[in-house]
Amino acid sequence: MFVVMATDATEDQIIGVKSLILAEGLAAHENRGIERVVIAALGEIGPRKDVLVSRFAALPGVETVTPISRPFKLTSREFHPEDTVVEVLGVRIGDGSLTVMAGPCAVESRDQLLETAHSVAAAGAKVLRGGAFKPRTSPYSFQGLGLEGLRLLAEARERTGLPVVTEVMEPAQVELVAEYADILQVGTRNMQNYSLLTAVGRVAKPVLLKRGFAATIEEWLMSAEYIMSSGNPNVILCERGIRTFETYTRNTLDVAAIPLLHQLTHLPVIADPSHATGKRFLVKPLVMASVAAGADGVILEVHPRPEEALSDGEQSLTLDQFREIMDVVGPVHEAVRSLHGAPLLSASALRVGGGKH
Ligand code: PEP
Ligand code: MN
Repeated sequence: MFVVMATDATEDQIIGVKSLILAEGLAAHENRGIERVVIAALGEIGPRKDVLVSRFAALPGVETVTPISRPFKLTSREFHPEDTVVEVLGVRIGDGSLTVMAGPCAVESRDQLLETAHSVAAAGAKVLRGGAFKPRTSPYSFQGLGLEGLRLLAEARERTGLPVVTEVMEPAQVELVAEYADILQVGTRNMQNYSLLTAVGRVAKPVLLKRGFAATIEEWLMSAEYIMSSGNPNVILCERGIRTFETYTRNTLDVAAIPLLHQLTHLPVIADPSHATGKRFLVKPLVMASVAAGADGVILEVHPRPEEALSDGEQSLTLDQFREIMDVVGPVHEAVRSLHGAPLLSASALRVGGGKH
């Protein structure tokens, strides 16, 4: 449940609420919003609900107490009405700007990575992507360069100034990957790997959480909840397509998820048209669709010679194709923002509980 403090609540009153939460064997998480503090009391509440609501409501400084029936709490708009802005090496994700992340599917060599990194940086990308540990469907496919790939990503960051996002596949790798990466990616296949989610929740690096290819939006938010409840508030959600009956595309980009998530959660939402489609000619139109739907960014696979790529060549853009997208995406983003006003969703759309979910 959420305890919403009065706008003039004192620090002592906030401490009073938290002490009662702890005394009840629950965890207290607080959000200091622009106007007021909201304190979440999290844990198994069960039949104690009515009694607890009355006890919290009677405490000085408390304005309202809301029992929340949704399973996700810290990720919800009720807990955190303002948008979360994730900041990494001076790049702000979720502040109304458009963040383009780009780079190869996998780090393959020093030359391949540096050529791509310089080119996407010059075209306006703000974050460099590249897999060092690759989750491949076949055990016989290229599995990534591992530690060598991480070192190359760090070198590319040094040379371009771009922060780096790369995937971490298992809890035991988290410390190592966090040493080199600026953003830790949890891939679609691991979205419900709860020990991995807890492990990335304990490090002080933002997490890019991809949607499981068969996950509902609620399951996805529950995964983000694992990360946040472990102590990491900097989660970026990435819609990367879900599995449907369609076979012409690798996955189906769920464009509606983007504005829907902006209603349900305060976390930034980006889209991955590369993995959503599996085909490079479909990437540009879906970048436009994602931006028009209000995405805070996109993540794109780019390779200097896609025909030679060791993974995901078919969906990788050439350096020229990436530049072409960058030339048109900015104006689309601006036009969408000015048409709809900023933020994209109206205040009534953001009012939680107004929709059918
Ligand atoms: C990737 O980004 O290279 C990747 C493997 O993505 P996903 O987990 O979305 O398939
Ligand atoms: Mn890939």
